[in-house]
Amino acid sequence: MSTGKLKIDLNALASNWRTLDALTGPTVETAAVVKADGYGCGVSRVAKALAQVGARRFFVATAEEGAGVRQALGPGPEICVFSGHMAGDTDMIHDLQLTPMLNSLSQITRHFESLPGSHFGIQLDTGMSRLGMEPTEWHAVRDIALSQSPRLVMSHLACADEPDHSANDAQLQNFRNMTQGVSAPLSLSATGGILLPSEYHFDIVRPGVGLYGGLPFEDASPVVHLSLPVIQTRTLEEGDTVGYGCTWQADKQTVVATVSGGYADGIFRALSNNAMFWFGNIPCPVIGRVSMDLITVDITHLDQSPEQLDLLCEHQTVDDLALAADTIGYEILTSLGHRYTRRYGEILS
Ligand SMILES: *Cc1c(COP(=O)(O)O)cnc(C)c1O
Repeated sequence: MSTGKLKIDLNALASNWRTLDALTGPTVETAAVVKADGYGCGVSRVAKALAQVGARRFFVATAEEGAGVRQALGPGPEICVFSGHMAGDTDMIHDLQLTPMLNSLSQITRHFESLPGSHFGIQLDTGMSRLGMEPTEWHAVRDIALSQSPRLVMSHLACADEPDHSANDAQLQNFRNMTQGVSAPLSLSATGGILLPSEYHFDIVRPGVGLYGGLPFEDASPVVHLSLPVIQTRTLEEGDTVGYGCTWQADKQTVVATVSGGYADGIFRALSNNAMFWFGNIPCPVIGRVSMDLITVDITHLDQSPEQLDLLCEHQTVDDLALAADTIGYEILTSLGHRYTRRYGEILS
């Protein structure tokens, strides 16, 4: 077995959903965001585990992703599509009973003309300038849209991971103004918003990254564990160099382990000479450049030759690794490669 082992702890995933669910009031529904293949964890197993623990509404980015979730879950759970009703999506939305979040007048028109009476939600732009209707556009179509009974009316916060950022309150006020008198369920908060005061919670919350063990949910249980097999070890003499570009040079006798995995597996090249693997409790630095399929690690200080080294483990979270790569945990998760064998620790109860 020469590809890395990616262990997804479904029990930790379920426990994160429960913990986030408990942070909101009893009348607030906790949905689950499973876009991007369940943040890289494998959407089929992830969606089933979350449904088992109580999630009844799932969010994805595109209708194609919604198809994968419907296949995993069967009829029943609501599958909401952030990108809305795009040209060419009509059959899929109809056949798989997806709920598009309509983002514009043209999407509203397309949906009401092609699938009258079928489920939809509305997405409003309250200040992020990314997706959804702005106040003037919303004002023009509001009465028609509301007369067709949307399943929810939602917006998204730009700075929820910075609790003191003034954009949070501004977006909250805009959302309140734009949804005054709306009787459909309202949804504003993702993981970051759940950690803000309860006035941000409304009727439905939409956690994503926190379910998978990522910040800003500091109390999350880690979900993803990654170990890479050691293919070969060698002893370098002083002056020997390692990897492409000879960017690392031994200043003494050094033992190098070459592990199977590289930037094609989502282990960013920015981690060259700049990350740790772990052998149990012992950190082992990456030396030389990360290449496509291989990484070289200094194991001089180990008293044995390891069969594998850990990259995501109890000593190193997705956010620790993200910090070293100058990115965020979301990007580490969604870059997890497709060469890994994904193994799923089962739900205990
Ligand atoms: C991705 C996304 C979420 C989930 O966000 P997290 O920060 O991962 O919890 C919720 N709502 C929208 C609109 C999103 O795009």
